[in-house]
Amino acid sequence: MTRKEFANILVPGIMHDRAYYEELYPERNLNSDAKVVRIGPSPTGFVHFGTLFQAQLAHNLAKNSNGVFFVRIEDTDQKRETQTGIDEIIEAIKFYEIPYTEGPLNREEEKGKYGPYIQSKRHDIYGAFVRDLIEKDLAYPSFITPEELDELRHQQEISKVRIGYYGRFALDRNLPMEEALEKIKNGEKYVIRMKSPGSFDNKITFIDMIKGRVEMPENDIDHVILKGDGLPTYHFAHAVDDHLMHTTHVVRGDEWLSSLPIHIQLASMLNIEPPKYAHTAPIMKEEDGKRRKISKRKDPEANVFEFKKQGFPIEAVKQYLMTVINSNFEEWFEKHETEDIDSFQVTFEKMNISGALFDMEKIINLSKNFIAHLSAEEFYNRTLAWAKEFEPSVANIMEENKKDTIAMLNIERGGVKPRKDYGTFSDVYKNIWYIYDEKFNVSKEEYEFDKIKDLKEISNILKTYITKYYNEEDDQDIWFDKMKQMCDELGYASNMKEYKKNPENFKGNVADISTVIRVAVSSQKQTPNLYDILKILGKEKITERFQKWM
Ligand code: GLU
Repeated sequence: MTRKEFANILVPGIMHDRAYYEELYPERNLNSDAKVVRIGPSPTGFVHFGTLFQAQLAHNLAKNSNGVFFVRIEDTDQKRETQTGIDEIIEAIKFYEIPYTEGPLNREEEKGKYGPYIQSKRHDIYGAFVRDLIEKDLAYPSFITPEELDELRHQQEISKVRIGYYGRFALDRNLPMEEALEKIKNGEKYVIRMKSPGSFDNKITFIDMIKGRVEMPENDIDHVILKGDGLPTYHFAHAVDDHLMHTTHVVRGDEWLSSLPIHIQLASMLNIEPPKYAHTAPIMKEEDGKRRKISKRKDPEANVFEFKKQGFPIEAVKQYLMTVINSNFEEWFEKHETEDIDSFQVTFEKMNISGALFDMEKIINLSKNFIAHLSAEEFYNRTLAWAKEFEPSVANIMEENKKDTIAMLNIERGGVKPRKDYGTFSDVYKNIWYIYDEKFNVSKEEYEFDKIKDLKEISNILKTYITKYYNEEDDQDIWFDKMKQMCDELGYASNMKEYKKNPENFKGNVADISTVIRVAVSSQKQTPNLYDILKILGKEKITERFQKWM
């Protein structure tokens, strides 16, 4: 029996050989410095913030080098997979508007010539490459059962030798073909392992694009490359895929750094040029004085959809990601706030080596800043779209009161120093609810009257204001002049300087009087510009609210 026949028996049902696939996916026609980068998320039903980070990073690298950013779904670990996992990944990347040149559009369709972009659809390809290795005696069937492996580990622990399936412990690496066939005939289960040519005593060095020069022992473990279910392991799948898809830079989380010796060895066994590797540090959290990775279990914000749910504009989230990706982004952004963030060129040199701390406050600030520069209409529209999905009752009320809502959102907007009091779309209702008559059911205790608390005095101020000083037509200057006149009439200081000189001469000042009016119409001590709020409410509502309070 030839090794070729042996390979065909071990990996049955494969339609094409390796040469066929090598030809099917020719070199990409790109400039020599173009980067071909990808993300390889696994569809576990939880789209991690780290995936978004990788996507934004890969997109930027590709875009700024006229390269390609593609998405590959890594679903070879079917135990971890969930039904909707793939859809969620695609939805997340689309929602955050990170454009990818190639990849799945949904579970059935995809774009790009180097697919399939879902690993479980690449079964034939992996089979062809595994056969090739078996033929060259660089891979072999391994019949060791999980129990035997446990036993091996146990023995290795007792005799204090390095744990793993290597060298003399790799019992079936030299099993003759005939014996292997016999076992298969007897129905014994097997996996395919790589026949590592390495030695643990050798050191190999490589340059990681982010971490720099790294030295590690050579791999000598016969890792599984094809599992019992016929699907490849990550090590093997990524090696084959990044080769055929012509990835130039594998940018991935640094939990993979320790596997690099395996991957470099696999590349050599497959006789392919390995891509460049860049291992990114994870996003960290500080807890009880200790740093840890943000975690799916403990941190709601580890899920990218959480930001959507909370109503952060995607632009702010992406700006935040950029601050985490490159330490010099913020400085650039201060000077180029209105530019597309993609015009900032990410460099590996400026990437964080040890892991940035997750900074919620920074996201909120970026978001406040972003929202402050939207037009009121756009802010309204985006809030409405958000509310339709997450707070339908808010969406209804916003639509029923569209004009007033936009007017509220417009207060102190524009200009060089716009008001920055909305961090998320969900802040809108929290900040302006009182403008909606149907929601203004406040009980007496909820009014936040401040310095002036005397009920009679409050009533007197409100009555005086509405009967003598309020006129719907007044512009802001006249309105304010009248407020001052009212102060003089009621014994409050209209001039702050005078008030500060001799406070004992007055009952209070113009700010205290404004607060009374502000609280009466909104129940709140703090609101945006009172004049604008009165304008939006109009005479009828103001009168009603005064009466309601009195
Ligand atoms: N599926 C791998 C992961 O989720 C991807 C690693 C890579 O990008 O190569 O960690």
